[in-house]
Amino acid sequence: MRLLLVEDDALQSHHLRLALIQAGFAVDIVADGVEAEFMGGSEPYDVIVLDLGLPGRSGLDVLRHWRAADNATPVLILTARDAWHEKVDGFKAGADDYLGKPFHAAELIARLHALLRRSNAQPHGPLRVAGIELNEETQQALIPATGARLDLTGTEFRLLRYFMLHPGRVLSKTRLVEHVYDFETERDSNVLEVYINRLRRKLGRDSIATRRGQGYIFSNAELS
Ligand code: CA
Repeated sequence: MRLLLVEDDALQSHHLRLALIQAGFAVDIVADGVEAEFMGGSEPYDVIVLDLGLPGRSGLDVLRHWRAADNATPVLILTARDAWHEKVDGFKAGADDYLGKPFHAAELIARLHALLRRSNAQPHGPLRVAGIELNEETQQALIPATGARLDLTGTEFRLLRYFMLHPGRVLSKTRLVEHVYDFETERDSNVLEVYINRLRRKLGRDSIATRRGQGYIFSNAELS
């Protein structure tokens, strides 16, 4: 999952970034409102964490502009504690959730997972698709039928989660790369194939079907 973190407090964003990466997000950080508006409008993020007090342009204006441009990416705003009016203004501007500062990274991550489930129309509880269950806490794939518990690397986890949130859909290489890697990482679609083959080795050859010239499908309907 690609995540944009908009926060002008460098120490705060440094700590959050580490926690978010550990939780399996590919994270880009922006500290200025104008740049945030540009990045959020041009990169295909799955979710955005937006501080409201920003240099350059206020978080509320950034959010209003995204929504006016039909950018529907889920946005969680960071508000000052006890500033109820900020929450109201934030929801009016198009926020999907909020968190009052200070907060624990664990709460932010739990809220982001819930937000991503809602935006992908997934039920609550662990992600379960085609006989595979993904544990987002331990970043393991469980196969309940056999009791197998498979460890995943960070990239394998991000890739499998993206597939499981979009089952049965053709996902192009470009789209997968854009949602699995952050902006700084060199994006090489040949490397993506290596990871897809690793997932197939762990989950079964047929778990990810190739559509030549189009991309990949997770849990092809023929299988389930
Ligand atoms: Ca701030």
